[in-house]
Amino acid sequence: MNSLLHLSETQRAIVDTAREFCAAEVTPYAAQWDRDAHFDPTLTHKLGELGFLGMMIPEAHDGLGLDTTTYLLALEEISAADASVGVLMSVHNSLPTQMLLKYGSEAQRREFLGPLARGEKLGAFALSEPDAGSDAAAMRAQAVRDGDDWVLNGTKAWISAGGHAGVVLAMVRTDSSDARKGAKGIGAFIVTPDLPGFKVGKKENKMGLRASETVQLVFDNMRVPGDRLLGDPTQGFVYALQSLESGRLGIATQALGIARAAYDHARAYARERQQFGQAIGEFQGVQFKLADMATRINAARSLIHATAAAKDRGEAVGEYASMCKLFATETAMWVTTQAIQVFGGYGYTTDYPVEKLFRDAKVTEIYEGTSEIQRVVIGRAALKG
Ligand SMILES: Cc1cc2nc3c(=O)[nH]c(=O)nc-3n(C[C@H](O)[C@H](O)[C@H](O)COP(=O)(O)OP(=O)(O)OC[C@H]3O[C@@H](n4cnc5c(N)ncnc54)[C@H](O)[C@@H]3O)c2cc1C
Repeated sequence: MNSLLHLSETQRAIVDTAREFCAAEVTPYAAQWDRDAHFDPTLTHKLGELGFLGMMIPEAHDGLGLDTTTYLLALEEISAADASVGVLMSVHNSLPTQMLLKYGSEAQRREFLGPLARGEKLGAFALSEPDAGSDAAAMRAQAVRDGDDWVLNGTKAWISAGGHAGVVLAMVRTDSSDARKGAKGIGAFIVTPDLPGFKVGKKENKMGLRASETVQLVFDNMRVPGDRLLGDPTQGFVYALQSLESGRLGIATQALGIARAAYDHARAYARERQQFGQAIGEFQGVQFKLADMATRINAARSLIHATAAAKDRGEAVGEYASMCKLFATETAMWVTTQAIQVFGGYGYTTDYPVEKLFRDAKVTEIYEGTSEIQRVVIGRAALKG
């Protein structure tokens, strides 16, 4: 799709690389992965070789050292091809790697960022629990000091790529159980699957995003060395929320990619499908749908890139990242619904790609903060400002 964005030569090259990668390695397989709920672990290495798993990691740690805008341009391409690959790339680049970059010690960055950037290890982010979703600070997983180590117990829920991740940033209570300090008593730990007591639990059977593995992680008396604690043992929740600023821009862009793909399919079908002796795109009722889709998609992209540019200038963009996520994900849900309408009955079948896009779009309104929670963030900021 043409957009209002002006791309630099580097950005154009990255977008072209992402498109070529998707045409060869993602698009031909996406429908089958969706049917089989299959996560292809070789994707991690392939994305890593292209630098797509270290887009904002500095070159000193084998990343590409690029800005948020350029990262999001690549993410839109990948997400348009398959939202399951998109979420893998978004979580990895936005959450665990950003937390390590911002709050990790030099030794932690040296040990973990290189393998994450090269795609040797996949990153995951473990905040949610079965009984702590929107109210994540109500988490129960507990870390207790034992000599130089910490012993972790609890269950983390809904962890994207949790069963294949080599590095998991896990938020766990560090305050004692009888003197809970809410959000202020939580630490962030660098957890690896080789730790004794690390177990992969229930795998979710999902309506969409089926090629993205979503699992529970169980920490069963898991002994974590003291040097795996990130920064201050009481500030893990704050670190997690700050990285969710990047995360929400990532999910907004994932939604943008889904919406764009649905629009492209609807546009092509409107040109080709004949009814009443002419292409359905000749009917103004169908043209209006395409017009509204294109308008909302371009509005979402413009908001996302204005916010990314502000972030790269070092400005605080908390409520704007929430606006991006809210607007782009609701756009994805609306556009995919309209795309099915343009396809008529065929759109309701698995023979055409729009029903998958519709199913994939729904979760973007839920994870990394539901639409209601984004409205809470934006509403609070509105009253403060
Ligand atoms: C496919 C998938 C992948 C995920 N990946 C990860 C991951 O990698 N890591 C991770 O930590 N988590 C992950 N999550 C968890 C996700 O972030 C949570 O599902 C989400 O935060 C919502 O929590 P919940 O599901 O417990 O819903 P609840 O919090 O129980 O919410 C239920 C409903 O109540 C509404 N609600 C709750 N509080 C309020 C309020 N204050 N005001 C108005 N409405 C409210 C919600 O908006 C929602 O509509 C994933 C989830 C899914 C589905």
